Amino acid sequence: MGRLNLKQKAAALEKIAAEIRACRICRRNKTGLPVPGEGNPNADIVFIGEAPGKQEAQTGRPFVGRSGKLLRGLLADIGIDERKVYITSPVKYLPKYVTPKPSDIAHGRTHLFAQLGVIDPKVIVLLGNTAAVAVLGQKFPIAKDHGKIIKRGGKSYFLSYHPAAPLYSPKLREEIKKDFRKLQRLIKAGKP
Ligand code: URA
Repeated sequence: MGRLNLKQKAAALEKIAAEIRACRICRRNKTGLPVPGEGNPNADIVFIGEAPGKQEAQTGRPFVGRSGKLLRGLLADIGIDERKVYITSPVKYLPKYVTPKPSDIAHGRTHLFAQLGVIDPKVIVLLGNTAAVAVLGQKFPIAKDHGKIIKRGGKSYFLSYHPAAPLYSPKLREEIKKDFRKLQRLIKAGKP
């Protein structure tokens, strides 16, 4: 895809969102509203989670529930305006069985890749292993590799925990905070 201006990117993302809303495969064994993603079409940073939860399925917006509050709080802590980034997930509806299956991820990522192709961010933040599997096709030992930049095909990926993790395991709150502070430093230094 050649370089698109902001208006063209917004239109292309809206077209993908319309495809997601009309997609019968995305909706299979899922419930609630579609959650295509939201944010700046020209974002330098894209945050990728797992799948919508209940609040997301009720509102159609990504990361607005408990883990979303944590994510948005982490962004505010490092001085990133959430309207400047793009936030999405590989699976675009809430699975009835909550944890997405590999087939949900394999399908959802086709829409996700289309979104990433339009936005063309400088860094893609993978929030947990579902995001890593969806985007890079592989799992990582997150407890060891969180906070690392992974370079693939000329792109930079930053690996961290899913923001639901510290809700279950409070000691991870400091770890994810550290990761976001590192991300902030990398961005300031123009490194990722
Ligand atoms: N968790 C995710 O991974 N994505 C959302 O949109 C909400 C919660």
